[in-house]
Amino acid sequence: MLDRISATLALEEPVGNVTQVSPARAKALAAMNIHTVRDLLEHYPRRYIDLSSVVTVEGSTIGQSCTICGTIHEIKLKKPRYNLQLVEISLVDSTGLLMVTCFKQPWLMKTYKAGDRIAVAGKVEFNYGFKRMTNPFIEAVGEGQVRGKIIPVHPASGKVSAAYMRLFMEAALELTRGCEDPLPVDLRVRYRMPSRGAALAAVHEPVTMEETAAARRRLAFEEVFLLELFLMQRRRQEVADLQAVRHTIDGPAVAALRAALPFVLTAEQEVALSEVFGEMAAPRVANHLLLGDVGTGKTVLAAFALAAAADSGGSALFMAPTEVLATQHFASVGPLLEAAGVACGLLTARTDAAERERLLAGFADGSIPVLIGTHALLEPDVTAPNVTLAVIDEQQRFGVNQRRQLLEKGSAPDALYLTATPIPRTLALTLFGDMTLSYLHERPRGLAPRTTTVLSRDERGRAYDAAVERVRAGEQVFIVCPLIGCSADERKARAGADEEESTHPEVAIEAEEDYRADNLAAAETEAEFLQTHIFPDFKVELLHGKLKGPEKAEVMERFRSGESQVLVSTTIIEVGVDVPKATVMIVEDADRFGLSQLHQLRGRVGRGGLASQVFLVSASKKTEALSRLRAMEATDDGFQLADFDLSLRREGDILGNRQSGASALKLVNVTRDRGMIEAAHKDARGLLEADPDLSAPEHKFLAREVALFARREKQAEGEKDAHHSRRS
Ligand code: ADP
Ligand code: MG
Repeated sequence: MLDRISATLALEEPVGNVTQVSPARAKALAAMNIHTVRDLLEHYPRRYIDLSSVVTVEGSTIGQSCTICGTIHEIKLKKPRYNLQLVEISLVDSTGLLMVTCFKQPWLMKTYKAGDRIAVAGKVEFNYGFKRMTNPFIEAVGEGQVRGKIIPVHPASGKVSAAYMRLFMEAALELTRGCEDPLPVDLRVRYRMPSRGAALAAVHEPVTMEETAAARRRLAFEEVFLLELFLMQRRRQEVADLQAVRHTIDGPAVAALRAALPFVLTAEQEVALSEVFGEMAAPRVANHLLLGDVGTGKTVLAAFALAAAADSGGSALFMAPTEVLATQHFASVGPLLEAAGVACGLLTARTDAAERERLLAGFADGSIPVLIGTHALLEPDVTAPNVTLAVIDEQQRFGVNQRRQLLEKGSAPDALYLTATPIPRTLALTLFGDMTLSYLHERPRGLAPRTTTVLSRDERGRAYDAAVERVRAGEQVFIVCPLIGCSADERKARAGADEEESTHPEVAIEAEEDYRADNLAAAETEAEFLQTHIFPDFKVELLHGKLKGPEKAEVMERFRSGESQVLVSTTIIEVGVDVPKATVMIVEDADRFGLSQLHQLRGRVGRGGLASQVFLVSASKKTEALSRLRAMEATDDGFQLADFDLSLRREGDILGNRQSGASALKLVNVTRDRGMIEAAHKDARGLLEADPDLSAPEHKFLAREVALFARREKQAEGEKDAHHSRRS
């Protein structure tokens, strides 16, 4: 018993307590973000070399991938060209000779020498008279290092080799042998999962691949299960002492709103509405997320929620991230609510003093139960005695504190979030396991035809031709420049050199803030170029992040009213606008955007029922970058694109920033492990319904794990905050 407990506690000990880990090695591990024994054991192998399925040189098939094990006969460094180094290894086994060529890895000369036994994994080729592998995966298989027939290969660093990792793992497993299993027994039985200790051993010291696969599944399940419990428990604690509002959902305003609608809700909207209303009527604090692409009809559902709040004698706030969006919501929701007999007002930073005073007074005395607005709603003097609902549009654009501030306008208001960011359900479950979700997939009004075309830089004349033609016909054009590099000079300079640079979307997004200053000049040049050379007879305007709010609004207004015909924008934020005549969009360096972002961007054209064209210009020659963009040509479904994006990127990245919790998922893949995520979510919810505080004796270790999880999350948050404050 004591052993079990000390084995369990050992997980939280510093990694230096593992026998093989000297202080110097502990330091090297710390550089890899491995601080505790747990961190070490959660440093899972990247792959396995299955020596039980190794083939001989003779037995290998040309054109196929395999693992071959042999002895190094000769290893030498060659320099066939200036600045090209390659290491050539001749590898022999009892059946023959395999030539192995490794480009740009001169350090191999220090790692291996003639006589070493190694395993190489890769595709077998045949040329110059020999079977060959180029840049295969190489691993030493010296005696004594290999326990079974399968070699785990852990991510290594320059200072800690994969071979050392295996030694550390062996010692760490020894230290934690017999540790308690946090997963409830019934789940383990139901899914036939090995215990945690057995799973860790099978992952790090595999005996059979089947066993290892089962172990990984178990550990993956545990990851999501703990994440879900953490999210759900945190939420429960937040609302524990709050007296939830039970909204009336079949009152007169709701009925009048329905009667006033110029259309009938689609079946899908009806389902989502009943889900929203279900949460609002329930005796718990609603935390509901409504997901749907632009144009799927979310706003009208928000109007229903606002009407229900009014019917319940409460006040409600509807906050949008920009002035333009707030104004748009007011224009569409306002008349509907008025028709339903619910007074409502628009409050933004631009609202004049007298109007502001009128709105605040009306909101405070209940005569204006609904305010729609921007961050201006967060001001302390925006109050009402009984705020029962807060609706937040594009919630991810607000900080946690801003969302909290809005919710603090009431004692326990229901929260309804709207988002057009296409977050597939399984990802949403891992990011927002504590929220209820509704999805809208169809667009009730359909879309005018829209085409998307990927162009190389050389071909972008086609985009300009199309743009000029549409502008001549009285339509309008958006031109989006992401970051650096829209100026003609820079373009030339970069055309070749930039190819090696990372174009990972997250990097681009991160970089946006930093580069905005440089970017500005480039976009200015671009706008000038367009004005002089492409659209000499029309008005080109520039919208960038450095403009002050009112100036921005003026630029936007001139574009919306048609006074200017071409809008060059350095930021995407301000593009959240309805410009019915905008029918062409050209996105420069489109590979720098995430697919979800591009999809949101293109949603800005063709809003007035006119056919539209989107051109994605990219100088990239990388297959991955281009295949991402091709996906934009192939489908118009934002959720499909998000899935595709996900399959290429790490889970947490899809929203552009790391969300809490998602980074805790090391083994889970949200596109592959859908079923597992759904199950873990359901099981976690069921468990908390039966044992809300995890206080049952059989949940003791589970409760401890969740608490530890929470502590790690908090630490990670703290680091993130520190990082942010350093940056700003
Ligand atoms: P979202 O907020 O999801 O972008 P909106 O609520 O603005 O979408 O709806 C897009 C357009 O579709 C609006 O003009 C809205 O009036 C219209 N609309 C919404 N629901 C329906 C419906 N059931 N039938 C017809 N048109 C609808
Ligand atoms: Mg909307």
